[in-house]
This record gives sequence, structure tokens and C-alpha cells, in this order.
Amino acid sequence: MVHFVGAGPGAADLITLRGKKLLEQADIIIYAGSLVNPELLNDRKATCRVYNSASMTLEQVIAVMADGFQNSCEVVRLHTGDPSLYGAIREQMDCLEERKIPYDVTPGVSSFSGAAAALQAEYTLPNVSQTVIITRAEGRTPVPEKEKLSKLAQHGATMVLFLSTGLLEKVEQELMEGGYSPDTPAAIVYKATWPDEKVFYCTVSTLASTAQKNGIHQTALITVGGFLGDCYDRSKLYDPGFSHGCREAQA
Ligand code: SAH
Repeated sequence: MVHFVGAGPGAADLITLRGKKLLEQADIIIYAGSLVNPELLNDRKATCRVYNSASMTLEQVIAVMADGFQNSCEVVRLHTGDPSLYGAIREQMDCLEERKIPYDVTPGVSSFSGAAAALQAEYTLPNVSQTVIITRAEGRTPVPEKEKLSKLAQHGATMVLFLSTGLLEKVEQELMEGGYSPDTPAAIVYKATWPDEKVFYCTVSTLASTAQKNGIHQTALITVGGFLGDCYDRSKLYDPGFSHGCREAQA
């Protein structure tokens, strides 16, 4: 069987218990070498074969999986963060379906959660934003026209941009075109939860210069919005004057 496993954002102890167990039992591990913490491979079986998918094509990855399946091996495909975001797992799952190879998916802590932890921030603040837009700038991978950054920016919601660190001049421009003021708070989170994690606070109009000044070119998330500011309303849930299923309002 093939197990797609989320490795978490970086720190080796941020994988799930299930993911760790699958790694310990694996006969073959194919891991995304550019972003997965290699420490996660330490507890593998002595006989486990390890492949770094960074230098492999989809066809080569599937060939390793298919060969493993034929030899009754447990195969773990280890993806960074949570595999459902920019993980390219759908194409792998479809190839496995075609070959009638069974698979399952174990979720992981995404780097956007790791970034919030690094920022010690809450993305969904009452009366600031109740929505998180997860997206990316258009690079070599096209983004549908209706999801242009300037269009998404019109919501003024919390935004988290993956895979966009090399495109920040364009990002700034499109975010402001969409309606974020140039002084909207923003932050660049580099290698969230890794030992060399770094956080740079800036504004929408200084994203590119901040990244450049600090030499940040990859492995970073861009977060934007009023959630990084100082104003918000208290929650209803913990308001003494608010009744709900588990608590009566105080007089
Ligand atoms: N599935 C992954 C994302 C893979 S796309 C997840 O859920 O996190 C790869 C992009 O994710 C990187 O270019 C970067 O933008 C972001 N990323 C991954 N790990 C990161 C980390 N520890 N800190 C900041 N950004 C990270």
C-alpha cells in the first residue's frame, strides 16, 4: 500500500503520530528533499530504501511505488506540510488508481499554520477578517484568471501566499491594485518552525524590499492583512454576556 504523509512544516516533532508510525514501518520512503526535514528519516527500518523526489519525475515516482507494491512493500510518500496544498498528489493518486494500487492519506501541519505560530497570531480576528485566502502569485504555474491576486485582494481578507517569494514586486502591485492600502501590515515568514526560522514584519508596499534586504528568496510565506494589526473585537464565545449551548450569560 502507498501512504501519502504530511511531514509538517519543518520541525521534526510536528509530524502526526500516525505519520511517524508509518515512517517507522515503511519499506520505501520517497520524500520531497527540498523541504522535508531529513531528521524525519532517522527512525526508519535499517532495510528501508529512501528516494529523494526532488530529482525525480512523476513517472519515476510512480515506477518506484508500483515496484514497491508488486513486492508487498509499505511505501510512504512524504510531502512537506499538508499534502493537500500545492502537493501535486492528485496526479499521483490518479496514476495509482489506474494501476489499481491502494493508497491512503495522512494529513500534516501545513506551513501556513506554522507561520501563524511563528507570528503568534490569529488569522481570523472578530471584526477584522473571518476568512483566510490561501493562494500564490502566478509564476510558471498559471493561476486561473478569476483568481488573479488583484481580484482576491478586493476582499481585504487575511491572505497567505505560498510559492511567491520570488515575485514580490508583482505581488505588491496586485495587492494594492485590489484595494489593500500600501500600509496594510504584512509579514514574511521564512522556514517556519525550523531552527533558522525568521520573521520579517513590513507592509504591503515594502514586501519586495524587505525580502531583498534580508536575502529571502524561497521557503517563505507571505502573510497580509489587519490580523497583524492591533485592533479587533473580543470573541462572542467567551463574552460573559453571551449565552450558548454550554454556558448561560452572566447577569
Ligand atoms: N504542502 C506544503 C506547501 C508546499 S508548496 C504546506 O502545506 O506547507 C512549497 C511552499 O510552501 C514554499 O515555496 C513556501 O512558500 C511554503 N513553505 C513550505 N514550508 C515552509 C516553511 N517551513 N516556512 C515558510 N514557508 C514554507
